[in-house]
Amino acid sequence: MNSTTTQAPAATLKTVIGLEVHAQVLTRSKMYCSCSADYANAEPNTHVCMVCLGLPGALPVMNQQAIETVIRTGLALNCEIPDYCKMDRKNYVYPDLPKGYQISQYDLPLCINGSLEITVDGVTRTAGITRVHIEEDTGRLVHDIAANEGLSLVDLNRSGVPLMEIVGEPDLTTPEEAREYLVALRRILRAIGASTGNMEEGAFRCDANISVRAEDGSFIGPKVEIKNMNSFRAVERALKYEEIRQREAVANGEELFQETRGWVDAQGITVSQRSKEAAHDYRYFPEPDLPPLHISRELVTSIADTVGELPVDRERRFAAELGLSGSDAALLNTERGIADFFEEAIAGNTSNGYPQQVANWLLNDVMGFARTRGMAADEFPINSGQLRELVNLVVGKQLTGTAAKTVLAELAVDESPSAAAERLNLLAMDDNGAVLDAAREAMAAQPAAVADFRSGKQAAIGRLMGETMKRTGGRANADDVRAALLSLLNEE
Ligand SMILES: [Zn+2]
Repeated sequence: MNSTTTQAPAATLKTVIGLEVHAQVLTRSKMYCSCSADYANAEPNTHVCMVCLGLPGALPVMNQQAIETVIRTGLALNCEIPDYCKMDRKNYVYPDLPKGYQISQYDLPLCINGSLEITVDGVTRTAGITRVHIEEDTGRLVHDIAANEGLSLVDLNRSGVPLMEIVGEPDLTTPEEAREYLVALRRILRAIGASTGNMEEGAFRCDANISVRAEDGSFIGPKVEIKNMNSFRAVERALKYEEIRQREAVANGEELFQETRGWVDAQGITVSQRSKEAAHDYRYFPEPDLPPLHISRELVTSIADTVGELPVDRERRFAAELGLSGSDAALLNTERGIADFFEEAIAGNTSNGYPQQVANWLLNDVMGFARTRGMAADEFPINSGQLRELVNLVVGKQLTGTAAKTVLAELAVDESPSAAAERLNLLAMDDNGAVLDAAREAMAAQPAAVADFRSGKQAAIGRLMGETMKRTGGRANADDVRAALLSLLNEE
């Protein structure tokens, strides 16, 4: 048995983590046939053909769009794209794999030697990417429908959907870094349109390797693989649990095994699934039905032109050139759709403080409002032109902040915010006489506050301001209200 028993090492232990991500490649059709890859709402076994059912004699045809998308991913991850790569058969037997093998890549993948920038607690560093290769997804076993009869059913809609495996170097040293690696990776995949990155739907899956070793090399623990983690939070929790389990084992002189463990989310623990000895021997060999690929430099250059500005660069530009706070620049770049909406809304106006005002309204009010309506992060209840006009009305003091929030909530589809403000009678009072009238009424309604203020309690003006604002329906600017009250209070 492959295990390590040890005396607790004298040197400090460090944790070593490497992640393997499987991401479905966003394509119209499957990897080797013309079946639609968009099977999310389909009846079982309706997106299938001879090829993805693995019927004898059916021949695969390479999906060029999938190959180019994986190369684009590799370029976004700073990978080298070798001139030559090939497909290999990975052989194993499982009910969701009709052919008895997966077409994958073994020793010559599409992309190698990349890197990914991650930031944890304000510290930025680079984690290595060993390789990105293409393979095909398997079918799915469905246990719940026929569970009563003790049956499992097979749905092959997913069989043959293009999948890329992104193998990270064992460069990560904490569970927090592992989580941040996944966040950064998914953000890139979504930004370049390579994958939906949707973890709940299984379009983005992660396995982790973790071990502990002594800083001085006097002890190297066996590598433990963890599976079954269905969210970024689960990855972080599973790695934290496993890090502690392994460190305690070492401290107590207990045995550690090279094994695969499954994360049990409900209990917050990992449990042993199989030892290294039981691991598969996949008997890889070159796929005889597909020719090797020669990747021309012209193709790589033309794909590189489609990568576009990466989220981390856009985030830096938002801070450096638009004057946004670092945290807002990061928030706006969690999804490309949000960053695009923001840039449309500012429409090139980078004047002092303006982008930050638009960012405040977008992040706090518009997106907050969208959340209360159950909209997705990159769906918006108004369009970018409406947001721009709304902010401009506030900047131009034609709407108070309070009134603008009401306009936002009441705005009809494609209605101009100024038209809505007029319809709702919310345009700011620029009539000083009307503000003075409201202030007089407020003073009459709150004689105690007036007396307090005149006896030296300056804070009492707050009550009068609130009362005046109420009487103007939130349409008066706070500065105007204060000035009007002060002039009246100091009259006598
Ligand atoms: Zn098919």
